[in-house]
Amino acid sequence: MGGLNSIIWKDACSQLKGILSGDIYERWIAVIQCVGESEDRLTLAVANDFYKIWLEENYLPIIRKAVLVVSGREMNISLSVDSSCFESVEQELEEEKKSVLSISSIPRKSFSHNLNPNYTFDSFVVGASNQFAHAAALAAANSPSRTYNPLFIYGGVGLGKTHLMQSIGNYVASKKQKARICYTTCEAFTNEYIDAIQNNNVSAFRKKYRKIDMLLIDDIQFLDGKAGLQEEFFHTFNALFENHKQVILTSDRTPSEMAGLAPRLVSRFEWGLVTELGKPDAETRSAILRKKAEQLNMNIEYTLLDYLAERVSSNIRSLEGALIRVATFMSLTNQQVNVQKIDELLHDLLDKESKAIINVEAIQRTVAEHFDLRMSDLTGNKRSKNIAWPRQIAMHLSRTMTSYSFPAIGEAFNRNHATILYAHDQVSNRAKEDRGLQQTISILKDKVTKNCAKAAQ
Ligand code: ADP
Ligand code: MG
Repeated sequence: MGGLNSIIWKDACSQLKGILSGDIYERWIAVIQCVGESEDRLTLAVANDFYKIWLEENYLPIIRKAVLVVSGREMNISLSVDSSCFESVEQELEEEKKSVLSISSIPRKSFSHNLNPNYTFDSFVVGASNQFAHAAALAAANSPSRTYNPLFIYGGVGLGKTHLMQSIGNYVASKKQKARICYTTCEAFTNEYIDAIQNNNVSAFRKKYRKIDMLLIDDIQFLDGKAGLQEEFFHTFNALFENHKQVILTSDRTPSEMAGLAPRLVSRFEWGLVTELGKPDAETRSAILRKKAEQLNMNIEYTLLDYLAERVSSNIRSLEGALIRVATFMSLTNQQVNVQKIDELLHDLLDKESKAIINVEAIQRTVAEHFDLRMSDLTGNKRSKNIAWPRQIAMHLSRTMTSYSFPAIGEAFNRNHATILYAHDQVSNRAKEDRGLQQTISILKDKVTKNCAKAAQ
């Protein structure tokens, strides 16, 4: 089918899929096409009046909320009837050809940079795992082609490669409006090249890419093993480097790990700076969630965000997906959430292991060991500060790292639930200002997780 490949609409659909029943989703949402997107408007189309009326009467509010949640801004949503975009595929292809032709006859259009305006340095949270890559990106953005050329960013899925790369592009675009910046994925670049060959248009293709001031190519691992394409890349890069134009590349592995990459390309890629985006630690994950929650205007307790950060550790994309699901729930139902609700909403996303094995006893054992105390000190009545404070920390960790309720934690510490609540607040409040305490908590969390993982083996 035709329509626009809108990321906002795609994300909104995934949200709606999680909320509506499968049948309703297929019948009413899957049939919608997104045909236009601007800063503040999403234009949706359906095949006939019947759909339009039904959707307006029943599903428009829910659609609007899902769009608000995924885009992070108020967008007008208009629904129109457009039977043409539901006609046969052949006709669609014809249309597409026509529009490609008309676009290529407008020279400026060919430099539309394709950048996602949300991917900026401002929205990128810096932590130990990405500090170096971030600094390198900032340097490249500040003086393109004079620091690292190419800048090669690699790392696993969902760790921020695309975000960081586009931050450079957005930064330069905001400083130099005339800069010809081009963001593309390696796959799109490849398809464009193949089209150019088929249409005898290779010289126009080369001209276009060799005139660019800054070329951002995402997921370059796609080149691995494709000899013919590497040749074309090599020449494009050479032309750009020689003219002192900045090239930025991302990949899921280092250049030398791409077994099917021609040695001269490997050495070209390694010429500038090769930098890694690692997996974020718990502290950075929490910081990312706080930032995203703010962007989404969510009214949610920090301790719940910490809990989420603790439980979704695989990558930032999953972390964000988890938060969006919680945000959608809160905004659609107007309800607050708690740990149990989060567990329920995210049952398929949360790290399975940690749920099964992190328990209050493991936390008590780890805290006792760390502060050189006995387990009985934590459950007993002694009030001296060197015991009472670690005890409160253990209570706080029990609240943030497990799904136990306050009364259940109280039982494990021989206290009532109010004591646990108090301890939890004390520690959370102090940690807001006390960097040393933040570090202690983060170290303890790591130790608890490691001890539990060991115990499970
Ligand atoms: P990759 O390209 O490495 O697969 P992305 O750049 O697409 O990952 O990042 C996945 C999601 O996580 C994006 O929505 C991005 O905005 C977000 N993200 C990644 N790293 C950070 C960060 N350091 N701060 C804030 N958001 C981040
Ligand atoms: Mg990416």
